[in-house]
Amino acid sequence: MAPRSVHPLPPGSTIGIMGGGQLGRMTALAAARLGYRCHIFTPEADSPGIQVAAAATVAGYEDRAALKSFAEAVDVVTFEFENVPADSAEFLAQHALVRPGPQCLAIAQDRLLEKEFINKTAPTTPYRRVTSAEDLALAADEIGRPAVLKTSRMGYDGKGQVLIAPDCDYAAAWTEMGAEIGILEAFVDLDCEISVITARSPHGGWATYPAVENRHVNHILDTTMAPARLPDGLADQAVAIAHDLAEALDLVGLLAVEMFVTRDQRILVNEMAPRPHNSGHWTMDACATSQFEQLVRAVCGLPLGSVDCHHDAVMKNLIGDAVHGWPDLLADPGARLHLYGKSEARPGRKMGHVNRLYPKGKLPNG
Ligand code: AMP
Repeated sequence: MAPRSVHPLPPGSTIGIMGGGQLGRMTALAAARLGYRCHIFTPEADSPGIQVAAAATVAGYEDRAALKSFAEAVDVVTFEFENVPADSAEFLAQHALVRPGPQCLAIAQDRLLEKEFINKTAPTTPYRRVTSAEDLALAADEIGRPAVLKTSRMGYDGKGQVLIAPDCDYAAAWTEMGAEIGILEAFVDLDCEISVITARSPHGGWATYPAVENRHVNHILDTTMAPARLPDGLADQAVAIAHDLAEALDLVGLLAVEMFVTRDQRILVNEMAPRPHNSGHWTMDACATSQFEQLVRAVCGLPLGSVDCHHDAVMKNLIGDAVHGWPDLLADPGARLHLYGKSEARPGRKMGHVNRLYPKGKLPNG
């Protein structure tokens, strides 16, 4: 078993990142600013992370020989993608310091385990495990309609989700969801969607960014408003939930917790990710420490940075063709543009984002 050091890894050390997407890219850029090197492990050669990293391994997530040499080449391993197979994360932990630990991934990548885990700390919408169209019909009778059927694994950005309407054809819905195990969730009557990102260090210290409001289009995050405009007490409650979940996971690194605020002003946790999160991109321009630098600090055992925000912010994702608006965004002095280096602007693909800053308390309406 690799040592569980609480000694800081000094600048010059190498951070291994599982996953080569934009989250790995922005982590590598933040790490470079603090004098660290990043080694990206990804199955895809032309990935946003590799473009800016000091080293790369291009191999499948289950390639044990590649995982072993990667683990031996780095000082700590972290994740920008939580669907790395849990076995591979366990294997890495036998050869390297892995932060967050494999237990965090195992929970976050399975919606059923995740919901069970969350409910020990904070409420979620009622749910049932379903394994067939017949099960689905029974679960829908218990939970009520409308409801949302989701795959228990590998679901993100609304993929593998089917709305179960009152007149639902269960067999068709089951086929459409396309997995052997699903989860049926009661539909939440939403006021808004929020998220909180918290960082926890190996020393147990923590730092939490304020709750933000997230707006989705076609189940994909479109806009984040920071901070969320919530009634008194709810924002603090959201922060406390994220903190308690990170503690319960014994997590070192970042935990992003997505939550629903119901119309009757209750918070229900939707899901969590033990990694940087799209709804934290505003921190790159509006906070003393970005979420990416905070991840580097946490996994290297450095003091966590200040989460003070010098501005309020609106983050807008550039999805698919929206990226072609880059010349106008560059010409706009109020727009802070971040592009991910992806060559092909496919529909639904996150190509970049733009942050706009506002004096505190002066977020635009709407
Ligand atoms: P998820 O993949 O679980 O993050 O879901 C993607 C989006 O679908 C969420 O951000 C919500 O907008 C919507 N959604 C998911 N689950 C529910 C639910 N139980 N009730 C209402 N809306 C939901």
